[in-house]
Amino acid sequence: MDNQNKLAFDGGWQYAPAPESTDHITIDGQYGLFIGGDFVAPESGKYFESINPATEEVLSSVASASSADVDSAVKAARKAYNGPWSKMKAAERGKYIYRIARILQERAREFATIESLDGGKPIRESRDIDIPLAAAHFFYYAGWADKLEYAFPGKRPVSLGVAGQIIPWNFPLLMAAWKIAPALACGNTVVLKPAETTPLTALKLAEVVRDAGLPDGVVNIITGAGETGAAIVNHDDVDKVAFTGSTGVGRIIQRALAGTNKKYTLELGGKAANVIFADAAIDQAVEGIVNGIFFNQGHVCCAGSRLIVQESVADEVVQKLKDRMETLIVGDPLDKNTDIGAINSASQLETIESYLRLGQEEGAEMHQSSRDIPTTGYWCRPTIFTGVSQSNRIVQEEIFGPVLAIQTFRTLDEGLSKANNTPYGLSGGVWTDKGSKIFKMTQKIRAGVIWANTFNKFDPTSPFGGYKESGVGREGGMHGLGAYLRLEG
Ligand code: NAP
Ligand code: MG
Repeated sequence: MDNQNKLAFDGGWQYAPAPESTDHITIDGQYGLFIGGDFVAPESGKYFESINPATEEVLSSVASASSADVDSAVKAARKAYNGPWSKMKAAERGKYIYRIARILQERAREFATIESLDGGKPIRESRDIDIPLAAAHFFYYAGWADKLEYAFPGKRPVSLGVAGQIIPWNFPLLMAAWKIAPALACGNTVVLKPAETTPLTALKLAEVVRDAGLPDGVVNIITGAGETGAAIVNHDDVDKVAFTGSTGVGRIIQRALAGTNKKYTLELGGKAANVIFADAAIDQAVEGIVNGIFFNQGHVCCAGSRLIVQESVADEVVQKLKDRMETLIVGDPLDKNTDIGAINSASQLETIESYLRLGQEEGAEMHQSSRDIPTTGYWCRPTIFTGVSQSNRIVQEEIFGPVLAIQTFRTLDEGLSKANNTPYGLSGGVWTDKGSKIFKMTQKIRAGVIWANTFNKFDPTSPFGGYKESGVGREGGMHGLGAYLRLEG
């Protein structure tokens, strides 16, 4: 083929590299803790490294916060709460949040690039999804700041105080926005801890908070490992804990909070099923499945990690999926053509690989795309398992990688019971041409979010949260306000 940008090979397509440049970003060699409006050194003097999982190169050293640092951050947040923040007019508070949103938009390209470098996700995702949605959350909640009484008619909404917030590595900036924006809009101050492997965009957000001129201590961002998170959860002067992460850690936190006055929300794991009926638009459904599990390396709590397909179209769907998998490009997260980036860390890759072995030991048939993957860094080919049974661990447990378990069904009730048969209930998908089936399925799938004929669509106005072991409470939309307020009267 003449066109240099499109070279046909082995029935697939190869595109000329189109890497995002890194000339426009700055990452400091070392970051302190953002406490009381300034970056400060950690009390212990300890730092740890954040690497680029696509190259294994060190990007920066970040501070490891001890419980003494957590205490300083909580004190700074309390001082800001008792001082300017809780006394400020709500409309003024809103202006600061709008300012954060606008700066994020202005610096979107820089944030997208750093997100992809630090976490391994394709630039297409960080550019088109993570960063715009993060800004949208700040815009949305900024608008609520002076309208809280309208959200809760007949009640007097009162801020809680200091919120301790702990987030995972799969959507670092977006999760920070989900947590910080509603907390500030409701008049609280915050101490936020990003995940160990993806601290950089949260630290960049600290710069934005400073540039937006927020009073010192309203937002504190501290880095560290699980113990830092535990110190936030267990600090006596924290009024609210907002956690997003694994169900295992969620359980530890819930136990620690039992019997305290702290309010909490827990957004935990998932094992979502996409249910495809024979009458669905099959090509559209296959694209939705691919989007739901392979994009962002399956590092999505609401990933469609199970496919439950009506028997009469199962062969067709599986074949189309296999064909589509061959076209997915696994590689450089900064390349605009990349579909599947790097797995976030060596330990997550180990976890995924152990499930790949387990699936085969359980008797399932594994199929992976045959395309090359890079040799340095952490990578996983898109993978499907067929011939699985409901009790298999690869059907029941969250893998958090680009791995899809496929089952079949004959009747609606069978499809429904398979969809509901896991400990989780975060999200789900239904694909059919019939509105009646959509209504039946969406009413009976026990999950917080259910998409029909689409998947993984997000909007700040829409609440999000889990049933069963997927969590407690809702974030997003008007529901997300309630999590940061006490309603009096
Ligand atoms: P994780 O191990 O539970 O970690 C989440 C956060 O908690 C990290 O910042 C972690 O710090 C910290 N942490 C670890 N141990 C802690 C403890 N004992 N007390 C307090 N904090 C502690 O989860 P992950 O592996 O990073 O993230 C993947 C999980 O998040 C998946 O299960 C996924 O489904 C879930 N998730 C859920 C949602 C949702 O909205 N429902 C959204 C995204 C992700 P370190 O980074 O240092 O370990
Ligand atoms: Mg990293």
